[in-house]
Amino acid sequence: MNTASEDPSAASPMPFRVVVLSGPSGSGKTTIVNQLIRLSPIPLVKAISATTRPPRKGERHGEDYYFLTHEEFLARKTAGEFVETAEVYGAGYWYGTLLSEIDRARQLNSWSFLEIDVEGALRVMQLFPDAITIFLKTPSPDVFEHRLRGRGTDSEETIQRRLKQAHHELAQADKYRHQVVNDDLDSAVTRIISLLEHEVTACSKN
Ligand code: 5GP
Repeated sequence: MNTASEDPSAASPMPFRVVVLSGPSGSGKTTIVNQLIRLSPIPLVKAISATTRPPRKGERHGEDYYFLTHEEFLARKTAGEFVETAEVYGAGYWYGTLLSEIDRARQLNSWSFLEIDVEGALRVMQLFPDAITIFLKTPSPDVFEHRLRGRGTDSEETIQRRLKQAHHELAQADKYRHQVVNDDLDSAVTRIISLLEHEVTACSKN
């Protein structure tokens, strides 16, 4: 029988890791992230990003994002509070991951989960070379466009900009450690959980 005393990994705390998930909007990211955080046996704490974009209906400061003015964002950037920042979609809005958010997860003995764009992810890969990076793909460009339009929240101009951005992001997908196709929500979540578990096993063997 495998008791706790025989299991060496049970005695030592799980090493802290940063997990990064990117993928075009419309790839089903938000739903996947919510399911993952709920179901993952490895505790994950989502890093709440800061942004200068205005809140959408129902979004709350400190839950969905820290909504900052340009001045506040810039001041915190200058003070070195961010791990990475990026102007996403070229729409004039800034997004960034605060170091304090990564520390928050560490203090909770959890892994820090970042849902950020490719530019930010490349920066995180430099700072945390052992970050577990996952690129979420849609099954095909047509499905992606269909999902984007189906949300009904974006103007044609925004949709075109997001399609262009998605094309650009897809070209970077092979820089990520893992690529997962979101053909079906449940199986995508299951695949991500199993690759996280695999990372724990790989770690404990080292
Ligand atoms: P939205 O405005 O739709 O909430 O997010 C737009 C994009 O910003 C998403 O693709 C998301 O991955 C990205 N994003 C959100 N937070 C951050 C962040 O802290 N850093 C970076 N680089 N991108 C972010």
